[in-house]
Amino acid sequence: MAFQSLRISRFVISVRSPIRQCHHRARALVSQMFQPTGALPKGAKQSEIVCKSHKLMLEHGLIRQSSPGIYHLLPLALRALEKLIRVIDEEMQTIGGQKLNMPCLTTAELWKETDRWTTTGSELFKLKDRHDVEYCLGPTHEEAVTHLVASQGHISQRQLPIKLYQITRKFRDEIRPRFGLLRGREFYMKDMYTFDIDEERAMETYHSVCEAYTRFLQRLGLNFVKVVADTGVIGGSMSHEFHLPADTGEDVLMFCLKCGHGANKETIDSEDAHCPNCGPSTKLESRQGIEVGHAFYLGTKYSKVFNVDYLDKNNKSRLTQMGCYGLGVTRILAAAIEVLSTDDEVRWPKLIAPYQIIIIPPKKGSKEERGQQIAEELYDSIVGKIPSLKNEILLDDRDHMTIGRRMKDAKTLGYPFVVVVGKKALQSDRLFEMCSVNTGVTSFESQDALLEIFSGIQTV
Ligand code: ATP
Ligand code: MG
Repeated sequence: MAFQSLRISRFVISVRSPIRQCHHRARALVSQMFQPTGALPKGAKQSEIVCKSHKLMLEHGLIRQSSPGIYHLLPLALRALEKLIRVIDEEMQTIGGQKLNMPCLTTAELWKETDRWTTTGSELFKLKDRHDVEYCLGPTHEEAVTHLVASQGHISQRQLPIKLYQITRKFRDEIRPRFGLLRGREFYMKDMYTFDIDEERAMETYHSVCEAYTRFLQRLGLNFVKVVADTGVIGGSMSHEFHLPADTGEDVLMFCLKCGHGANKETIDSEDAHCPNCGPSTKLESRQGIEVGHAFYLGTKYSKVFNVDYLDKNNKSRLTQMGCYGLGVTRILAAAIEVLSTDDEVRWPKLIAPYQIIIIPPKKGSKEERGQQIAEELYDSIVGKIPSLKNEILLDDRDHMTIGRRMKDAKTLGYPFVVVVGKKALQSDRLFEMCSVNTGVTSFESQDALLEIFSGIQTV
């Protein structure tokens, strides 16, 4: 990559060598952050913002409403979302997922083949092109992916299982969009679609995806439950949901305290439900949850319609067995904030916090003012010595504000480590005040000790 300038017709574009750029990388400064705070969406009343994550995300400049159920993801939230996506990518690729990207616009024709053009009802965003051809904005992609895979003709048995996934925007004209990113009308979903040679293999795939979801949620440090679910409009014969237990959750889950069996209440008929494993005397307890992921075994429901088949040993055509697996990516971001935050302070799963470290230099005009340079040196030395933290440090250069005020902001935004350059940093032993926001523990550390602690930060 030794390019210095590229000549393209009449234009000369000079490009800094990547190595030089690295040395001259600008420090990330809080004063420059685009983070419009505090505003309520047009026409909304404070009393309508009833859920913690929604309120915190609006108030602290993480999201901004564009229209009901539709949001701008502002820079800090997007940083966290992109990390979340990297964790998902890792887990999907671990189980052999191949990432692709399908169009949001899907023709009505495909949806009519499965009947879902009419059965999905008014949740579908429908539109027409200039030739009067009907389309919808994809709320999910079973039709699109099955049609795509069918287009290659008979699949070779060696190619199976095929596990295709994407992380794209989905559109659903929800009756009641609410709770911010928890129930939007435009949101990000990770959707995986799998094709197997028979039911047994499809079940293996099903379990491997559920295990990947488990690992994913564990890596985020989120407490979750997996429950038996209804197959709903997507159809199929087996389904599980992953939920984060929370009072704001819109689903009611029923649990057996003895064996841990759990089911979405939608799947249970009678009011006095009992546990299928432990017998009629064991009543189920209810609890609310936010659905963050969903697994469906689809069988041949879609492969039959579009004829996705392979040739077996005897050259006989057989339909593939399908599964589909969703994760609500933007919903997970908000749900994690919902379950981890306090009423006034945002908390993130550490792995995906928008920045891992924030450094607060002294106030301008204070006795400690010369500590500002020490703060910059600390910043550069972390970047220089721990490459994985290159993009993970913020400098709160709003030096007209007191340290206390900036410390409060840093804690409110939930950056995992806050380092204050105060009086002790100017003394000969040069100690920095470090607050670990998730544990609430504050200590004084030398620069070497800080580097040691920070070298253990997990990033993605
Ligand atoms: P819900 O019951 O909450 O409406 P769903 O069962 O219709 O969701 P699926 O079709 O299973 O949703 O979609 C897969 C995942 O996408 C869900 O588990 C959820 O995390 C997420 N999701 C669904 N609808 C929304 C929405 N309106 N806003 C944000 N995320 C959503
Ligand atoms: Mg669902």
